[in-house]
Amino acid sequence: MNSIVLVTGGSRGIGAATAKYLATQGYSVCVNYISNEIEASKVVEQIKENGGTAIAVQADVSHEEDVIRLFNTIDHSLGRITHLVNNAGILLPQMRVSEMTADRINKVLMTNVTSYFLCCREAINRMNKGGAIVNVSSAAARLGSPCEYVDYAASKGAIDTLTTGLSLEVANKNIRVNCVRPGFIETGMHADGGEANRVERIKSSIPLKRGGKPEEVAACIAF
Ligand code: NAP
Repeated sequence: MNSIVLVTGGSRGIGAATAKYLATQGYSVCVNYISNEIEASKVVEQIKENGGTAIAVQADVSHEEDVIRLFNTIDHSLGRITHLVNNAGILLPQMRVSEMTADRINKVLMTNVTSYFLCCREAINRMNKGGAIVNVSSAAARLGSPCEYVDYAASKGAIDTLTTGLSLEVANKNIRVNCVRPGFIETGMHADGGEANRVERIKSSIPLKRGGKPEEVAACIAF
C-alpha cells in the first residue's frame, strides 16, 4: 500500500522532524502549516532532495473549512491518506488560571483539541482500508503545568481521552489510534510561551539532564 501521511504543524519542531523522518521511510508527506510558508517549503525541499515526495499546504487546522480543504488537497495531490500525525499545537504566555480570558482559553482549545477531532474525522472517513493515527499529547496532561499553562495541560488531557475513546471506536475498522506524550523538547514553542530558554532552566530536574530532541520524538511517532 502506498503510505500517505499528513503531519499537521509540519513546518517546525517535532512536526518537521517527523515529516522528514517519515519521508525517509517511504511515506508521501503533506506538511501542513499555518503561517510559516518559508519553513514549510524548506521541509518539502529537503524531502525532495533526498528523493521523497512531499507537498506543503497552508491551513489553520482549528477551522473546519480549512481542514476540509486540506484533506481535499491531499486527495487530489497525493491520494487517499493512510496515516495522520496530529501535531499542531500552541502554547500562550505563562499565566495563572485566575488571569485567563475566555478568548485565550478558547484559542488554546480550538487549536490543540478541536483541530485534532476534525483531522481525525476527515482521516477516518478516508481510511476504508485501515490506517494509523498518532496524536501528539504532552507530559503536561498528567503534570497540569501549574502557574504556567493549565489551559495547555488541560487541552492535552483532552487529547489523551480522545485517543482512548477513538482507538476503541475504530479498532474494528483496522485503524490504530495512539498518542505520544513528550516531556521537555527543544523547539521554538517555549519562546511562544514567553520563556525561550525554559528547557535550559529545568534541565537539571530531567533524568537525562537535558531536553529531548525533535528527532527523538519523531522516531517514537514513527514507531
Ligand atoms: P512548534 O515548534 O511551536 O511548532 C508548532 C507547529 O504547529 C508549527 O508548524 C506551526 O505552524 C503549527 N501550527 C500552530 N498552530 C497551527 C494551526 N492553527 N494550524 C496549523 N498549524 C499550526 O511546536 P513543537 O514544540 O514542535 O510542538 C509540536 C507538538 O508537540 C504540539 O502539539 C505540542 O503541544 C507538543 N509537545 C511539545 C513539547 C515541547 O517541549 N516542545 C512537549 C510536549 C508536547 P507555523 O510554522 O506556520 O507557525
